[in-house]
Amino acid sequence: MEERILLANCGVIDPEDIESYRKAGGYKALKEVLSAKTPEDVIAEIEKSGLRGRGGAAFPTGLKWKFTRQAGSARQAKEDEKYVVCNADEGEPGTFKDRMLLEDDPHLVLEGMIIAGFATGAQNGYFFIRGEYVLSISRMEKAIEQAKQKGLLGENILGSGFSFNAHVRAGAGAYICGEETALFAAIEGKRGIPRLKPPFPPTAGLWQKPTTINNVETLANVPIIINRGADWYAGLGTESSKGVKIFGISGAVRSPGLYEAPFGVTLRHLIYEKAGGMKGDKPLKAILCGGAASGFLSSEHLDTPVDYQSLPPLGSGVGSGAIAVFAEGVDIVDIVRQNAGFFLHESCGACIPCRVGSKQIYDILSRLVKGQGAESDIDLLVDLAETMKISSRCGLGIASPTPVLTAVKYFKDDFLEKVRH
Ligand code: SF4
Repeated sequence: MEERILLANCGVIDPEDIESYRKAGGYKALKEVLSAKTPEDVIAEIEKSGLRGRGGAAFPTGLKWKFTRQAGSARQAKEDEKYVVCNADEGEPGTFKDRMLLEDDPHLVLEGMIIAGFATGAQNGYFFIRGEYVLSISRMEKAIEQAKQKGLLGENILGSGFSFNAHVRAGAGAYICGEETALFAAIEGKRGIPRLKPPFPPTAGLWQKPTTINNVETLANVPIIINRGADWYAGLGTESSKGVKIFGISGAVRSPGLYEAPFGVTLRHLIYEKAGGMKGDKPLKAILCGGAASGFLSSEHLDTPVDYQSLPPLGSGVGSGAIAVFAEGVDIVDIVRQNAGFFLHESCGACIPCRVGSKQIYDILSRLVKGQGAESDIDLLVDLAETMKISSRCGLGIASPTPVLTAVKYFKDDFLEKVRH
């Protein structure tokens, strides 16, 4: 059995007891950072580890922290207010990895946030947690309270002179609030609508102050990297994709669930070894790899390594690590329609390409599923999807047409079948 790294404490420690986490080595990394490292040392260590954002965008974490730190140092003292925000608004169909970390190992994520605060020069951190994740919210609130009582949060942490506070904010059910600028608006008490970038969060984020925003899984990696060293971490995975990843495998497999593996593992290994293979030994038809806004792949791609280099040329990606598996016999056009329906529902409507494009894409797919479409509809679908990708304001409109484009690319016959019969 492969060693569990990120999920090592899940199901092992008591997530509601800080002492249980400390006995497992918890808060050792924070002590090490505060007693023996400068913020620049920490940023250098994270950069060396090769850690990239695990929410989907895969931006290098160390670089993001460096930008935020530098943004602060260039300002006047009174403007030096900075924030760390943890994006825990996990709301995409098929993605459920952050929930596990928040529920089963909240102190690991909190420790990662405090270290991020020290490295970037922030004084406050916010966990923006999906509202439906009631247990995640209560466990993180409890973790914050316990950390305060032990002097690991608040004023002058462990006598180091560094002060940092953490807060929890619950989302109200809008998927778009997972987009970073919409998320800031939501914390600020405004309607969650994305704004144009630049400026980017490291210079103007929450309340227009320099902000580092990291995903739950990204922050969970931080104490592990500090404890075991950047060299050890960078030795896991591949040249382009360092470290380990949590994959959420769902759909037509025998054992759906969360599995941890180093980058570079093949889809075949994840589906047939980790998740026990196809339910009922049915042949595999399609894989939606990386999340609902990533790309479809076919059975021909089973031996593709899951990393940041191998998947994008195929039109797919690592994304959030969600892997939805479909067996032969499914109506792939209807699956794409249902997926498009989710994004139509969640589009905030602020920009025309996404507001109108999502509706048109959904309507065309519905026509095709009902057998009322024409062959020209397939070209129109591709045209609309490509237009949305290049002209939408935020990640939702840019990424959500990807499943449509890749489904047409790899399963064109299924679309033609709908038109011809
Ligand atoms: Fe809103 Fe969609 Fe435009 Fe993003 S792309 S701003 S979700 S309408």
